[in-house]
Amino acid sequence: MIDVHAHLYTAPLVEYLGGNPATAAGARRAELAGAGDDEAHLEDRLALMDGAGVTRQLLSAPPAPYPAGEAEGIALACAINDAMTRFVARRPDRFSALASLPLPHVEPAIAEARRCLGPGGMAGVMLQAFCGTLSIAHERFDPLFGELDRLSALVLVHPCVNGICSPFITEWGLSGSIGPTLEDTTIALHLIARRIPERFPAIRFIIPHLGGSLPMLMSRLDHQMAAGVGGLNEPPSASVRRLWYDSVTHGSVPALRCACDAIGSDRILVGSDFPFLTQYEPYAKTVGYQRRAELSAEAIDAIERGNAETLLTRS
Ligand SMILES: [Zn+2]
Repeated sequence: MIDVHAHLYTAPLVEYLGGNPATAAGARRAELAGAGDDEAHLEDRLALMDGAGVTRQLLSAPPAPYPAGEAEGIALACAINDAMTRFVARRPDRFSALASLPLPHVEPAIAEARRCLGPGGMAGVMLQAFCGTLSIAHERFDPLFGELDRLSALVLVHPCVNGICSPFITEWGLSGSIGPTLEDTTIALHLIARRIPERFPAIRFIIPHLGGSLPMLMSRLDHQMAAGVGGLNEPPSASVRRLWYDSVTHGSVPALRCACDAIGSDRILVGSDFPFLTQYEPYAKTVGYQRRAELSAEAIDAIERGNAETLLTRS
């Protein structure tokens, strides 16, 4: 089984987060949860994977506020990516990794993607869905998507836990519970509205949490999205199937079945969001709940292994 959504708190990131009062507690919790990059955490992580039947994790840095300055952002992304690469090199048979980019600075982000994604390099990049109040689908990021397309990059578009900048979420204490799923839904539709998956077809996008609300909205989007968003070349339901989705839903079998019915098991990948869900349920349960969904053996094999192998092989 391949887990495509697992986080690694490298030492440079922990130091950066620890220096910010708003993020220091989160970094400390991650250290306690065994998500760091030292030797003991590596062994703990491998034991967890072995116990759950996970043969490989696709590692990414957890979302973090982008540094205010360009030079600081470049230095942090570079340090994180070098630490990620060193971690993977200890067990290349068990780990692949996604690079962090110094956004919102487009040219340095392109340079870092080129540095990290060369032959034998990292598997792709993790982009936070929003840079401050700017969607990653904004046209200013088109040159970055052009380069990621040229590199045939795997791109995990990760929520940044901003409550989609809505006081109806942020002021009601919902940024952590439903906020990320609203980000998933919104950013997937932003990408589709700007036809980014269609225009940059070599990029393989992964949207977390089964795409948020997308599986329940396919018919509605096909009826209504074009009226508000001009220039669509195809039904939104067809565009939704250009993307891939991880299975992180706190073990919700009805949600997984809905996603398989609406989008297709060939687009769904096992994810854990390690170490965030292990405070609620064991890792093995997070990555194994698809076996309780009464799916076909072929569907389960695709979700657990086949789809991810295809994505990683093409990198
Ligand atoms: Zn995550």
